[in-house]
Amino acid sequence: MSEAAVIRWSCLEDSESCAACRALENTTWLPEVPPPASAPLSTCTSPEGCRCVTVTEIAQFGIDEPADVAFLRRLGGVATSQQMAKYEAERDSERYANRQEDDRIHQAGETVTAAWRLEKTDPGRAVTMYRESLAVYKEGMRGPAGSWLPSHIHFTYNRLTMLLEKLGRWDEALKELGDHDGLKLPREGPQAALGAMEKRRERLARKLAR
Ligand SMILES: [Zn+2]
Repeated sequence: MSEAAVIRWSCLEDSESCAACRALENTTWLPEVPPPASAPLSTCTSPEGCRCVTVTEIAQFGIDEPADVAFLRRLGGVATSQQMAKYEAERDSERYANRQEDDRIHQAGETVTAAWRLEKTDPGRAVTMYRESLAVYKEGMRGPAGSWLPSHIHFTYNRLTMLLEKLGRWDEALKELGDHDGLKLPREGPQAALGAMEKRRERLARKLAR
C-alpha cells in the first residue's frame, strides 16, 4: 500500500437526515475493500435528498497510522459506526491515561530535583521524596517511558541510599540497594552512580556485620 488512508462516511446528521444515513455516520473502511455503501445513498429518504459524502483521510490529515489502519485490518477492512465509536473511545482513553502517566513521571522528576536541593537542609524529607519518585518511576517502567527510565531510577536510588547511609539508617539503605538490584534494570546511564552503589553495598554489609 503506497499511502495510509481510510475512507469515512460523513452524514450531516441534522433534522433532515434519514435514519439509514445517520446509521452510516463515521463508518470507516480501507480503500482496498469494497465500500459498504456509496454516497449519495440511493435509498436515502430525506426530503432534502442525500447529502452524505465519503471523505478520504490520509495519514497526515488526522488518521492515526498505524493504529487506525491496523484496527480496520483486524475487522477485515470495514468498521461500522458503532465499532468506530467504541474503538475511538478506547483509543482516546488510552491516550488520556498515557498523558496522565507522562505528567506523573515528569512531576516525579521535579520531585527528585527538589529532593536533591533539600539533601543538606532536610535529608529526612529528601529521603521521603526520593522514595515517592521511585514509586512513580517503577510504575512507569511498565509503560512507554520504560526505555529511558532506568537511568533516572539508578540516579535516584544512588541519592536515596547515599542519604540513608549518611543518616545512619544502614539497614534501610541496604534494603533499598537490594530492591534496586531486584529490579534487574539495564545498567545504562549514570555509571558513577552504579559504581557508588556497589561500593556502598559492600561497605554497609561490612558495617552491619560488625
Ligand atoms: Zn445521506
